[in-house]
Amino acid sequence: MKTLKQYISEAQEKKTAIGHFNISDTVGLWGVFNSARKLKLPVIIGVSEGERDFIGAKQAVALVKSLRTQYDFPIFINADHTYSFERVKEAIDLGFDMVIFDGTELSFEENIRVAKQCVEYAKSQKPLFGERVLVEAELGYIGKSSKVLDAVPEGINLSDEYLTTAEQAKRYVDETGVDMLAPAVGNIHGMLAKWKDPALNISRVAEVSEATGVPLVLHGASGNTDADIQSAIKAGVAIVHVNTELRVAYRSTLDTTLSANPKEVAPYKYLAPSRDAVSQVVEEKMRVFSFLG
Ligand SMILES: [Zn+2]
Repeated sequence: MKTLKQYISEAQEKKTAIGHFNISDTVGLWGVFNSARKLKLPVIIGVSEGERDFIGAKQAVALVKSLRTQYDFPIFINADHTYSFERVKEAIDLGFDMVIFDGTELSFEENIRVAKQCVEYAKSQKPLFGERVLVEAELGYIGKSSKVLDAVPEGINLSDEYLTTAEQAKRYVDETGVDMLAPAVGNIHGMLAKWKDPALNISRVAEVSEATGVPLVLHGASGNTDADIQSAIKAGVAIVHVNTELRVAYRSTLDTTLSANPKEVAPYKYLAPSRDAVSQVVEEKMRVFSFLG
């Protein structure tokens, strides 16, 4: 099996993207894995600090690696949105394949300082599974929600002058040495309830990609149009994150299942339709990210 870094470079060369899907439990994990296996595409499982605290960070790593070994399948695990060096270090020590340092609420200089510390720590560790842990970092604020939103959250400005610039991005990548960069290019975390998310700034994606040379990661792709996501992939995005749409599929299917079966108490029975609903969204997304039609 190739390493995660090789899969990411391969996606970048082919101008496709690897899907990154968040989970909170094994319902989500099997939902994602079943579709990845069906389409024979590499996949990244994401767990935020909240999600990994719920599953157990060590248990999340063990679950994903057990699927990788048992099925000889390229499924990887990312410590999504990690807000401190201490928690990045913890994720690296636990054997995550990649980790995201999110310093978007820090000043630019402080964001650089901590991201650099994370990269140095990752590089100093002996690789546990063939390659060292990859470090992604974020530049530009896109919110923190994985919810269905009524409006673009406060603090996010989608005007061009607030998006990550090629110049900032280049300096950030050069100084920190991060493997991947998640820029603010008009994307927002979460998704809007009543209409599709605002259009992405594709020319900005291309400029940042050109200036930095590292694979870009698109966060908050729930709610963006397929066409917009595909244009971003062609412009340099190699990983696309989806969370909220999976949560909505899980929850709305659970509501329907419970009201249709009010007396069912076996979780593995009333949760199975939610697992399959997650699978369906994952399959649709992976087809978009790989231009499978
Ligand atoms: Zn994100």
